[in-house]
Amino acid sequence: MAVGLAVPWGRPSTGPGREAARIVDVGCVRLWLTEVAGSLEAERDFLTQLDAAIGDADHGINMHRGFTAVMRRVDGLDPATPGTLLKTAGRTFVSTVGGAAGPLYGTAFLQAGDALGGEPSFGPRRLLEALRASLDGVQRIGAASEGDKTMVDALAPALAAYQLELRTGGSLETAVRAASQAASDGARATVPMQARKGRASYLGPRSVGHQDPGATSTALMFAALERAVVADRSQRFARPRGSRS
Ligand code: ADP
Ligand code: MG
Repeated sequence: MAVGLAVPWGRPSTGPGREAARIVDVGCVRLWLTEVAGSLEAERDFLTQLDAAIGDADHGINMHRGFTAVMRRVDGLDPATPGTLLKTAGRTFVSTVGGAAGPLYGTAFLQAGDALGGEPSFGPRRLLEALRASLDGVQRIGAASEGDKTMVDALAPALAAYQLELRTGGSLETAVRAASQAASDGARATVPMQARKGRASYLGPRSVGHQDPGATSTALMFAALERAVVADRSQRFARPRGSRS
């Protein structure tokens, strides 16, 4: 169980600072999307190599193209709420990314945006609902279960770890860290699996021994979420109160 100070600069235990530490606002969501875009750019070739082994060598290209379009759209979206940002991201993904990843990630973002509603900010429990809505959406569209060697193998354990951390008294920071770790472990755990969904399933037993590209991109998104939440916290505490809406 993770309790106590999660960040080296400390955290006020009461008052408005404490409240800010538990809330994700539109600035933090923008930061997350920016972190995802940067990470997908940096890892584009790696994701494509993974897809070359068990697919058609386009996952990095797909994700990078999709997120480049997402950033163009959300940068021009003002005013925005966390929900509108994510729904815009989802719609953009569906319309710009072909292949499996387009509708799957597009649905995940759309469902998360719907779950967040029109509020200007949200707390850790609402984020749990958003993650659950994303997983439900991905499974409704793709019908994959854990163990099928897909993005579900990163998303489902991330959601479970996030939920467990909150239940056992963790904070937003420790919960996103747990989710990120679980997503990364989940992606690595796809290596010995045989694919039962998606293009990789056509390979049958030859899909064993390779890490799933979609589970890997999902893990990158959770790592980006952790970085965004931690960076957002540090910015808030570094600034005088009231300097940021
Ligand atoms: P495509 O396979 O159409 O070329 P991508 O290469 O962009 O699309 O994405 C491949 C990834 O999509 C896989 O690594 C896997 O994680 C994910 N995927 C494929 N089919 C499914 C599915 N039915 N459910 C969940 N994820 C899936
Ligand atoms: Mg592919």
